[in-house]
Amino acid sequence: MSTSRSSSRSSSHRLDTLAVRAGQPRQDANDAVTTPIACTATYAFASSGELRDHFEGRIQRHEYGRYGNPTVRAAEEKLAALEGAADAALFGSGMAAITTALFALLKKGDHVILTGDCYRRTRAFVTQWLGRFGVESTIVAAGDVSLVAAAITPQTRVILTESPTNPYLRVVDLPALAATKQRHPRVKILIDATFATPVNQRPLAQGADLVLHSCTKYLGGHNDLLAGVVIGDDALVSLVREARDVLGAVLDPHAAYLLVRGLKTLPLRVARQNQTGLAIARWLEKQPEVETVFYPGLASHPDHAVAKRLMTGFGGVVSFVLRASLDVTARALDACELATIAPSLGGVETLIEQPAIMSFYGLTSEERGALGIADGLVRLSVGVEDIEDVREDLARVLAVVHALTRGPAKANAAKLEKGAVVHG
Ligand code: PLP
Repeated sequence: MSTSRSSSRSSSHRLDTLAVRAGQPRQDANDAVTTPIACTATYAFASSGELRDHFEGRIQRHEYGRYGNPTVRAAEEKLAALEGAADAALFGSGMAAITTALFALLKKGDHVILTGDCYRRTRAFVTQWLGRFGVESTIVAAGDVSLVAAAITPQTRVILTESPTNPYLRVVDLPALAATKQRHPRVKILIDATFATPVNQRPLAQGADLVLHSCTKYLGGHNDLLAGVVIGDDALVSLVREARDVLGAVLDPHAAYLLVRGLKTLPLRVARQNQTGLAIARWLEKQPEVETVFYPGLASHPDHAVAKRLMTGFGGVVSFVLRASLDVTARALDACELATIAPSLGGVETLIEQPAIMSFYGLTSEERGALGIADGLVRLSVGVEDIEDVREDLARVLAVVHALTRGPAKANAAKLEKGAVVHG
């Protein structure tokens, strides 16, 4: 059984305040201002009587580390408060949150709908793993609610979609999606809002049943932890927590401490990332070496109108396609001096990746094409560094593309072969 405890959470507080204060008492048992790390695998009972009181529900307390931990609980309370929800259950990674939630809600014979532009491992779990347990799935293109509605069958129990999606940042018209539940009340809508964060969007208020995040990204925010969370009402989160108790994908208290610490600055960080993301997206759109920019804050994005209606900011991820081959794109990213070539997103460090040779490595060009992953696609996750430094770094990337793809620039290309960086 999991234990909740009183905290300074107040629904009247605003998001920035909740980020700092929710989930922690004004003064804890040791008078500490910050949340301590409760590094324990199990919890002592004073007597067999207390054990009985615990199992018979007369007292609320912790029992064993897989069922709950005070540091993890503090992080859960903060996350629930940030999403305006009753409860949250934390996991050892975003994938653990997604897989446990789906195991909790689905059984043999059920059907799940997943939107296409999504994290590759989520797609693999739904199509390959759930299929082994007799759960059917349909993948529909992201961004068109009518396609999702058309895919609902009498067996459909879950619709899972990212919003914004990864990597093309499609934004789901959530109120329109939620309206389909009038005819299909047994369907639960799960939104992986990792790219949105509770700062930019509140999916539960817009009709979602559960919100999921990879806390590894913006919520932790410092590229130093792995975690995942499922947030929603008491009944659904309890169901997911019971599955967690059995499946065991719990969060370690040290990581929970880092998460609590990271969450305190979430609104500050995301505000900066929104600002930089939008400015960089607008700048990239004007560069001749860039074929297309995908960013929901741009008028050119297919879901710009939906994003403006449902989101208060558009995040720090900007995807763009270079006018370049797979190899030229790879060499261009090697020119970065600031952005780190790494998977993941949402942290304080700017990260850059070429999905074709990162998340989608090992697929043939045809397979990548079928998934819409262009050879020249780049996913940039802006951190909180100075925007001019980020822009200058991207100029280095574009200069390489220019040098390697334009005829007269052969001399520059030759210099590049020798390792020199050409600035454009
Ligand atoms: N959801 C989204 C949208 C992601 O991008 C990722 C990972 O990149 C995950 C879930 C999985 O999260 P984790 O890496 O924390 O397991």
